[in-house]
Amino acid sequence: MSDIKSNIQKIKDSLPENVTLCAVSKFNPAESVIEAIEAGQIVFGENRIQEAFPKFNSIREQNYSCDLHIIGSLQRNKVSKAVQISSMIQSVDRLELIEEIEKQCAKINKTISILFELHTAEDSKSGFSDIDELYKCVELLNSNAFPHVTPKGFMTMAPFTDDKTLVQKAFKTCRQTMEKVQKEYPNLNLDVLSMGMSGDYKIAIDEGSTMVRIGTAIFGERKY
Ligand SMILES: *Cc1c(COP(=O)(O)O)cnc(C)c1O
Repeated sequence: MSDIKSNIQKIKDSLPENVTLCAVSKFNPAESVIEAIEAGQIVFGENRIQEAFPKFNSIREQNYSCDLHIIGSLQRNKVSKAVQISSMIQSVDRLELIEEIEKQCAKINKTISILFELHTAEDSKSGFSDIDELYKCVELLNSNAFPHVTPKGFMTMAPFTDDKTLVQKAFKTCRQTMEKVQKEYPNLNLDVLSMGMSGDYKIAIDEGSTMVRIGTAIFGERKY
């Protein structure tokens, strides 16, 4: 068995049943993604559209089917391509982006899922850090202002640190924020909590993660 297959097997065996594995294939070639698909992997994550667009078009042209989630910060001018190749955008961090996603999805008559990315780590730039801005988006989505955009939950990246309590705190903040929003907006269906990467996914699961995004532990160290 290849490393990719056995890594996926090992990780899947260690995950609780309600936790989805998102295999982060950035910087890895289409062949590696195909190996993972052959091992039964369904959901993939990519953070750069210019890399993901040709890669996943090629994979699908070879008749392999899979789900792609966009997990990296997204510029407005990349949204058109992003919504063509993905079923979920996990890295939604501003209203302007939701407006563009709605516009591009309407054009191709597609409904897409999104997660609100929450900024919980000092050392990262991405994610909502202004809670008022987050609530403005939630409010508009709740009032169906964006009919092609379905909010499904939250995503965060914990700080890169050996201090386990800081990592736990970031994940807890994300979970509590989702619970709070869900309670205030019962018509929304927020149950995806995308938290945890190769180095911290066990902590994330203890804090309630329902989706882990794992790259290195599946595909090996990335060659930039
Ligand atoms: C690269 C990346 C991951 C995967 O990181 P690993 O440490 O390789 O598991 C997860 N989430 C996001 C947003 C990423 O950019």
